[in-house]
Amino acid sequence: MFEDDTLVEPGQEWRELAACAGREDDLFFPANEAEKAFVNTAKAVCAGCPVQAECLAYAIETGQTEGIWGGMTSTERRTERRRWVAASRRAS
Ligand code: SF4
Repeated sequence: MFEDDTLVEPGQEWRELAACAGREDDLFFPANEAEKAFVNTAKAVCAGCPVQAECLAYAIETGQTEGIWGGMTSTERRTERRRWVAASRRAS
């Protein structure tokens, strides 16, 4: 997923520890997230990733609308983002 370490921006050093670093396939960006076999294979990689929490937070905070990030599909992240926004409002 993260193919080129030279593109890592400050504050995103967690990408260097990503279990998907160097993968050049489309596993994390299936053409159709209803294809459970692809999604489950990607999620299995994420489940063993040491930076899953950082990846998910980044995807939610930056509004990533495509692909599997932090072990969640785009649909799952939308639900999680709504919870995140609601919690942020309650905290402020
Ligand atoms: S959680 Fe998944 S998508 Fe995110 S960095 Fe880890 S392996 Fe890659």
